[in-house]
Amino acid sequence: MARKLVIGNWKLNGSLAMNEALLEGLLKGWIPGPTGNTSTEMVVCPPAIYVPQTENLLSGSAIQWGAQDLSNESQGAYTGELSGSMLLEFGCRYVLVGHSERRSRWAETSSMVAAKAASALNQGLIPVICIGETLAERESGATLSVLADQLAPVLSMLTPQALAGIVIAYEPLWAIGTGRNADGKTAQEVHAFIRNQLAQADLACAAEVPLLHGGSVKAANAAEYAAQSDIDGVLVGGASLVISEFLNIGRAFESAAVS
Ligand code: PEP
Repeated sequence: MARKLVIGNWKLNGSLAMNEALLEGLLKGWIPGPTGNTSTEMVVCPPAIYVPQTENLLSGSAIQWGAQDLSNESQGAYTGELSGSMLLEFGCRYVLVGHSERRSRWAETSSMVAAKAASALNQGLIPVICIGETLAERESGATLSVLADQLAPVLSMLTPQALAGIVIAYEPLWAIGTGRNADGKTAQEVHAFIRNQLAQADLACAAEVPLLHGGSVKAANAAEYAAQSDIDGVLVGGASLVISEFLNIGRAFESAAVS
C-alpha cells in the first residue's frame, strides 16, 4: 500500500505575509492522530523564493515542503535555474516536475520531464511527476495512449530501484483550475492504468508508488477520491490557498486511511 500524500501547489501566489498566515493556519489545524502521527503527509510547494520562509516556519512540524520545479542540471551556466541540491539545502523533500503549465507554457517535453525526475532523485529529492491529457485528447479516446507516451521516457530512463522513489500525479488538463473535476470512478480507471504501467516496467513495488489525483480537487470531492483503491492522495492548486479547504482535504484522506 502506498503512503497517503496531500500536496498543495501554490503556483505564482503568495507573499511573506500571506504565506505566514497560510503556514500558521496549517500548523494550528493539522492535528496528528492519536498515535502522534498521521497516515497522511501534508506538503506545500510555495514559489521557490519562499522556500526558506517555509522551512523556518515548518521545521520540526509534521508538514513537509517542496518546490514547484527544478533544473535537470546540477550546476553551471544555466541562468535562472535551481538545482535539486540547492532545494535540499532548504529542507525540500519533494519537487513537482512536468506540471501541465510547465509542459504547455514552457514547452517541457516528456524527455525533459524524465531528466528532471532523474536529477531530483540523484540529488535526494522525491519527484512528483505530473501527467495528464487535454480535453480534445480525452474526447478522441486517446487518454491512455497520451499518458503512456508521457510516462515512457520516465520508465525507460529510471531504473526499477529509482522508480520506487517517485510519486506520480495524474492531472487531466481539462480539470485543472476549471472547477470541472473528474469523478472518482473515471479517475480510478486511469490511476489503475498508471499503476499497471509501473508494474509492467518490472517494478515489483508498483503498489507502493503514491499516485495522486489533481484537477479542481476541493474539500467537497476529496472523500470520493480518497475512497478509490489507486488514488493515494491529491495535488491541489486553488483549494490549497484556502487553509480550511486544504485541511479538510487532508482530513478526508486521513479518515480513509484509518477507517
Ligand atoms: C494544479 O495546479 O496542479 C491543480 C490541480 O490546480 P487546481 O486544483 O486549482 O485545479
